[in-house]
Amino acid sequence: MNFSEMEPYKIKMVERLKTTTKKERKKFIKNAKFNLFNLKSENVLIDLLTDSGTNAMSDEQWSEIMLGDESYAGAESYFKLKETIEDLFGFEYFLPTHQGRASENVLFSALIKEGNIIPGNAHFDTTKGHIESRKAEAIDCTIEEASDTTAEHPFKGNVDLNKLQKLFATEDNSNIPFVIITITCNSAGGQPVSMKNIKDVAKICKDNDTMLLFDAARFAENAFFIKEREKGYKSKTIKEIVKEMFSYVDGFTMSCKKDGIVNIGGLIGLRSKDIYQKASTYNIMYEGYLTYGGMAGRDLGALSQGLREATKYSYLQSRIGKVKYLFDKLDSYNIPIQKPAGGHAVFIDAKKFFPQIPQSQFPAQLLGVELYIEGGIRGVEIGTLLADRDPKTGKNRYPDLELLRLAIPRRVYTKNHLDYVANKIKKIYKKREDYNKGLKIVREAPILRHFTVELERL
Ligand SMILES: *Cc1c(COP(=O)(O)O)cnc(C)c1O
Repeated sequence: MNFSEMEPYKIKMVERLKTTTKKERKKFIKNAKFNLFNLKSENVLIDLLTDSGTNAMSDEQWSEIMLGDESYAGAESYFKLKETIEDLFGFEYFLPTHQGRASENVLFSALIKEGNIIPGNAHFDTTKGHIESRKAEAIDCTIEEASDTTAEHPFKGNVDLNKLQKLFATEDNSNIPFVIITITCNSAGGQPVSMKNIKDVAKICKDNDTMLLFDAARFAENAFFIKEREKGYKSKTIKEIVKEMFSYVDGFTMSCKKDGIVNIGGLIGLRSKDIYQKASTYNIMYEGYLTYGGMAGRDLGALSQGLREATKYSYLQSRIGKVKYLFDKLDSYNIPIQKPAGGHAVFIDAKKFFPQIPQSQFPAQLLGVELYIEGGIRGVEIGTLLADRDPKTGKNRYPDLELLRLAIPRRVYTKNHLDYVANKIKKIYKKREDYNKGLKIVREAPILRHFTVELERL
């Protein structure tokens, strides 16, 4: 790939970074019970915990904050956003919510019944949570290549069409209210889904009289990968690709904290007036009136502008180029990472990094802890802690992938910051054989334990 290296913006406002010593960080992480979520952000130098809501807004977005219309109903900011959604996605009906999981809560209340089956490509954890809490089942139909970090597949987020077809062949179709494709596929490492795959899944859904939805948090990054990697899309604009992607689906949920380039916000898009009306009732109950949902008027305006900026090619080139920059650095040091580079993060394969630490001792979490101590850098474990226990047996689930994710916030860090990150990882990698013991859990919640888990060194 030939990325333009330069940011298509200059910097008007800056935020101070606070430094700490290694000795202090050892104390901070111990006090945080070796859980990176428990750290105070002021004690983190480079925060790669998530790319969600951590974006830097542009001067034009901040202008929208000032222009926000805070009327309860029919605000101008709402109509601004409506125009953008029609223009970019071609959707007439939409509902604003306060974030992605709220969109799931509202839409799934209208669509999912107990006992339903919801196929998809590695459902995001809150999506799965909102399916399972309704006593329905999320079935992962991602292609096999996704769980092999070394497999070089251009669209590792793709749905396995055979798996999906088999499911439709064996299940009562009325039991499958929709299929959901996550773009890009977060859980499989920010890996994209091809246009052909979207089209093929849409056809299967149509043949079986079932809806197709997007979980569209990183729709623009997905469009960029289609342009770069899929035959026939090189000369298409990101806007054209986005329009085509969304033309195949019946609806979407979106966390706008990612490609919306805002700090909070969510959306639901629908083609069916009937479903829109059903969802509207839940939106009013859970989120707010139809023309603001869970957001302030100013946030609607900033989101409208953010969506337009996120679909600019020069922005995406620099954004994904930066992720690729860190990826290439780590690759050149032979550090085991998920390949090829994804859209929003670099994922270190902790099973390969620390082969001497068994999965029962949380090697990816250990790597996260050591990286914090070494450089004040905060990543997040995507491994055994995140996988929770099997609800039936109560035993730890050991996922195929044991990863430390380094998510890159949009427009926040420079390449110098990423050089620093790469150097610190290299330093740990050089002495990787010195680490012989992992961590053990001393306290955990029954569900979504990774947020609040307390650990100790073995
Ligand atoms: C972040 C995210 C969500 C949930 O959105 P929130 O805004 O965090 O509530 C759902 N799906 C995907 C793919 C996401 O990345």
